[in-house]
This record gives sequence, C-alpha cells and structure tokens, in this order.
Amino acid sequence: MSQKEIEESLNLLQKDWDVDPIIRDFMLGKITDVSEYPIKVKDVVFHVPYLNSQKKYILWKCFWPDCHNCCDRQGRLPLTSDDLIIIGKGLKYQNTSEFIKNETLTVTYSEPGPSGQNITMTTINLKRKTDETTDDDGTHISCRFLDNEGGCSMHPDRPGVCYLYPFSSWLENEKGTARVHATYQFTGDCPGFYLADSLDPMKDEFKDYSKIIYDYNMASNRTNREGFGSVSFV
Ligand code: SF4
Ligand code: SF4
Repeated sequence: MSQKEIEESLNLLQKDWDVDPIIRDFMLGKITDVSEYPIKVKDVVFHVPYLNSQKKYILWKCFWPDCHNCCDRQGRLPLTSDDLIIIGKGLKYQNTSEFIKNETLTVTYSEPGPSGQNITMTTINLKRKTDETTDDDGTHISCRFLDNEGGCSMHPDRPGVCYLYPFSSWLENEKGTARVHATYQFTGDCPGFYLADSLDPMKDEFKDYSKIIYDYNMASNRTNREGFGSVSFV
C-alpha cells in the first residue's frame, strides 16, 4: 500500500475517530526512530513497534461493534481450503466447485514481505460484492456480508483472514521447525492503535490472537499444499 493510499484512508478514518498524531505520523513514515520488540506468546512471535524517542509501544484494541471499518473497507478476502468447504456450505452450495465458480475470484498479486522482498501470491478470494471482478482486487469495497448492526452475517463461519486483521503473519524456518511471526498491518483503516509504556494492556489480545494467527497460518499452509493457492518469493 502506498503512503498516499494510507494517508487517504487516515483522512477518512479521522472523520469519525480520533487518531493520535504520533501514530498518524508513524503510519505515514514520518517517524523513523523505531525499534521492533519481539514477544513470543505461545506459538507466535509478535513484532511490536517501539518508538524510541517517545519511549512508547504501539498497541492495539478492537472497537467493534462501534467500529466495523475493516469490513466497510475490505481489500481482499483470500480463502483457505477449510474456508472453501465451510463457507460454501454456509451459502447452501451442494459442492465446492460450484461455490468457487459463482462466489470467488482467483487472483494473482504481489505484496512486500516481512524483510522487504516481493511476494507473489495466487489465492481464491471470496467476492466482496456479487459483481466483483479481478480488476477490483485490492480496492476498498464494503463487504456484502456486513449486516445492518455492523456484524458479519456469516459469523462464526467467516473467512479466517477476517479474524486476523489488523495483523499480518508469516512463517519462518527456525532450526527446521516452522515458526509463526506476526506484526500489525497499518492500512490507515483501523482506529484501534494507541501508545503505551508497556505491553501489559494488550496481554489478553496477544493471548487470543496467538491462537487465531497460529491456526490461520497452518490452514493457509495446508491450502497451498493442497493446490488451492501459491506463494513465491521474488
Ligand atoms: S479491527 Fe480495527 S477496523 Fe476492524 S473493527 Fe476492530 S477497531 Fe475497527
Ligand atoms: S466476510 Fe464478514 S468479517 Fe469478513 S469482511 Fe465481510 S462482513 Fe467482515
């Protein structure tokens, strides 16, 4: 995502929510004296930004149901092989191939990886609107499953990726064992970020998201192994 897109998203967000000016500057790349503090919570290593000059961590909490911005400004809904079966059934499809044909798009796109390298991915994505085309991929669309109360009409069987936001995650080889890592994705759409002196205020979120993120990575890895998606490092 470009700085210009993040700035546009932040400007929209600030019409309804307060955003700490320091966090805004950080998201726009104006604060560079930043360390990354790794904290291992169960099976996941979280990389938390620490602003050296402010001596503060950037932490996060979710404001749902007051906020549903991530569903209002959805960029892409890649499905795992588990999602294909569960969501297909939830949408009353008798077989998965019919569900894939009618409700999804297969898209190839590139994203910067954790160490700056480009990652090219091919995924089967749930359409966020019924007439979505591959040209809409990566653009902000209000998801068709968002209901009038700000909830997801598919919950709890919503795509695994929806549980993940605002984290992004990846697998690294640690002495022959796959280790899951996670960090925030700063798209400018989430009002939940705040500054704190310690990591304590977020300990419940770390615990809850450790399981969510670990399970999602295993499901995502299985999806590629089963041929429903691919990842390549350029
Ligand atoms: S993750 Fe962020 S954008 Fe999504 S509902 Fe929670 S506070 Fe809002
Ligand atoms: S599928 Fe549900 S949780 Fe995911 S973006 Fe759509 S409304 Fe939100």
